[in-house]
Amino acid sequence: MTDLKLFNSLTRQIEPFVPVHAGEARVYSCGPTVYNYPHIGNMRAYVFADILGRTLSWKGYKLNHVINITDVGHLTDDGDAGEDKMEKMAAEKAQSIWDIAKHYTEAYWADVKALNIRQPAHWSVATDYIDDMIAFAESIAEKHCYELDSGLYFDVSTVEDYGRLAGRHEQDQLAEDAEAHMRIDPVKDKRNPADFAIWRKTPPGETRQMEWDSPWGKGAPGWHLECSVMGGKLLGFPFDIHTGGIDHREIHHPNEIAQNQAFCSCGGLSEATNSGAKIWMHNNFLVERSGKMSKSSGEFLRLQLLIDKGYHPLAYRMMCLQAHYRSELEFSWEGLDAALVRLKRMVMAVERVNTKALPAQLDVAAAVESRLMRFGEAVADDLNTSVALTLLEGTLDAQIGHATVLEMVREMDSVLGLNLLNLTRADLRIRPKAATITEAEIDDALDRRKEARATKDFATSDAIRDELAARGVEVMDGDPLGWEWKLG
Ligand code: AMP
Ligand code: ZN
Repeated sequence: MTDLKLFNSLTRQIEPFVPVHAGEARVYSCGPTVYNYPHIGNMRAYVFADILGRTLSWKGYKLNHVINITDVGHLTDDGDAGEDKMEKMAAEKAQSIWDIAKHYTEAYWADVKALNIRQPAHWSVATDYIDDMIAFAESIAEKHCYELDSGLYFDVSTVEDYGRLAGRHEQDQLAEDAEAHMRIDPVKDKRNPADFAIWRKTPPGETRQMEWDSPWGKGAPGWHLECSVMGGKLLGFPFDIHTGGIDHREIHHPNEIAQNQAFCSCGGLSEATNSGAKIWMHNNFLVERSGKMSKSSGEFLRLQLLIDKGYHPLAYRMMCLQAHYRSELEFSWEGLDAALVRLKRMVMAVERVNTKALPAQLDVAAAVESRLMRFGEAVADDLNTSVALTLLEGTLDAQIGHATVLEMVREMDSVLGLNLLNLTRADLRIRPKAATITEAEIDDALDRRKEARATKDFATSDAIRDELAARGVEVMDGDPLGWEWKLG
């Protein structure tokens, strides 16, 4: 099999994957901050991490994957400005933070399941690791941190190559950043503008829903600290791959790296493993021009909204697979329609393979080998899922015999995760929430229409069609995909 090659954001190069521990792959993915529902852009990050994990498993590595749940510490700005997102939402909703965290963690897990994202070995919840965070902070405090009234801060000048991941090692870039930080950062007396909080003290006279005792007083951990601690504890430094959305390449991950360098007492980043991981990978953003991606907009784009409008969630997974994870992906309803049609076609093709005898060409073994080789090359080429998808589609009508096609679909879909061997056409027909008509009523009307047409009573047939249209049902005579009707 072709060796796996992945783009490392730290070196800005495609590199061969060589595991730290032979036969294993240890992967940490920055998880959601559970103060609100995830939007579908957030879920792109986990579809990407899932494809990476599935690829590593397919390549035979024993996968140890961690996704964290951030239930404390993430401020409304990724740096040290603003309020804690969890505290803010709890105040707005007049609920306890713990209830907020539980509700949105469960909502996130529902999306994970609906998108056929595999469960990681560990869901690590930040508030379960407070003692470890305090111990980590204590171990680096003397050499790398300083205390202010507002908390304990990491001094970024104490580690080599700070900001390399963000491409921020150039001097003029540093100056620009310093200026930007000054504008948004209200913390006084920091030594360097890029210094960040390891521990945020609860201001005198205030009580917070989430606060813990520490050597620096009552307070809460900084967001960046969480991931360093959970990654190091569950996977051991250095682990193989760290993932996140591309926004994390700018602040969160450079800060994690600085903490890891301090904790491991290792040198600069010309040795990638000194960063705590060998490879840092980032998915690009899902973008939507009208602003519906923002959680602060009224009806923001979450997976449930797509389902409510009658789209199967795997149509969104298909949409993600059609683009390379490092490319920006523009969301549109037309794009989602096209992805759903493509998924339907594939599901129908699998149904055909299941029911019709397929001729087998003379050299089935050679055909299988060449197809799997090309599929393997596409996936190994920094997860080229769009080419892999096309190869899977081509396999659906390959002349290699029914059982062999199904076996290859099983294998290829173990990487792409579209659940093709289990999905049925009926599963893909999701009832839009606003629909008022039932499937039984539609079937009944269509039966009456068929009878009318059989007796050439076209007036009645047209009237039934109009009646259905008035209730949101489009009758689809002669639809190439074999759908008789569509709601929406
Ligand atoms: P958060 O809950 O804000 O920490 O984000 C969860 C994950 O989603 C992180 O890996 C982010 O980098 C990623 N992310 C945020 N917005 C988008 C987007 N529009 N497209 C893709 N990934 C995103
Ligand atoms: Zn993180």
